[in-house]
Amino acid sequence: MDTVILKGKDVSSRIKENLAIQISNLKLKGIIPCLAAIIVGKNPASKLYVNSKAKTFKNMNCDSEIFTLDSDIDEKDLLFLIEKINNDTKFHGILVQLPLPKHLNEEKILEKINPEKDVDGFHPKNKGYLMQGNPSFIPCTPYGCLKILEYYNIDTNGKNIVVIGRSNIVGKPIASLLSQNTKYGNGTVTLCHSRTKNLSDFTKKADIIVAAVGIPHLINKDMIKDGVHIIDVGINRIDDKSKDKGYRVVGDVDFDNVLEKVSSITPVPGGVGVMTVTMLLSNTVKAAFNQIK
Ligand code: NDP
Repeated sequence: MDTVILKGKDVSSRIKENLAIQISNLKLKGIIPCLAAIIVGKNPASKLYVNSKAKTFKNMNCDSEIFTLDSDIDEKDLLFLIEKINNDTKFHGILVQLPLPKHLNEEKILEKINPEKDVDGFHPKNKGYLMQGNPSFIPCTPYGCLKILEYYNIDTNGKNIVVIGRSNIVGKPIASLLSQNTKYGNGTVTLCHSRTKNLSDFTKKADIIVAAVGIPHLINKDMIKDGVHIIDVGINRIDDKSKDKGYRVVGDVDFDNVLEKVSSITPVPGGVGVMTVTMLLSNTVKAAFNQIK
């Protein structure tokens, strides 16, 4: 079977071309889209993610400011900072890098972000709009998955779609988007999770699988039918002595093992990961436009 590799970079380049025009238009009005990124503590992965977001913003002539806070910061101080950024017209978007240290109430903190600046789409108001089928800011990773389906024109209409993973930031919003009455929605979506009995009973019937679990190579060729489309959101490190770093990054799907059976698949790396930052940029540009209206 001729398998199509769904390259996030190609999708991202197309979106960035369009964003570059919008960013130039904003510049003519004296506006540079600007993101405030808050990191609490010294989690190296969080730092890496935020730095890569800042780099993308810079490359696209947008601004960002990183606020690095001590891991033992008082909740009220963090809430105060968010309030300050909410009221600062320089910032069009705010993100709080997750996960947060245990002593901080994640829900309370995300709820503090002005929904108009909630470019991660995690505020309950924006989640509500998404559930209603009238999304404002769509969470970046699910949005990226949707854009991949759109770019490669993968028909979701009436298809059996199995989403594996039900997190608030990935699995649930993807399931919601793919079941809505939209061009790249209208799927018959089954949401699987750790309590799902006999996962392969579901995956074997799927026309499209979205894997967002965090278990390397959870899905193999015995669990899928011929011709399935796979979006692999998982980012997992596995030991690999042949690499300088001593590890390599793989998805939730055993890419090499399933390759000859699938119609299309996102690689890891090179698939969904690239899209997440691009959609953050897209949401921030949208927020900047909304805020001048
Ligand atoms: P979470 O840990 O929040 O959620 C994982 C989900 O997988 C849970 O719903 C869990 O079920 C389910 N699960 C766990 N084990 C199984 C199993 N054996 N069978 C079926 N379902 C299972 O992870 P995230 O949603 O935050 O992330 C998922 C993956 O996506 C990770 O690898 C992460 O690194 C990656 N990721 C990638 C991004 C990107 O930019 N490409 C962005 C964000 C995440 P239960 O709810 O019952 O516990």
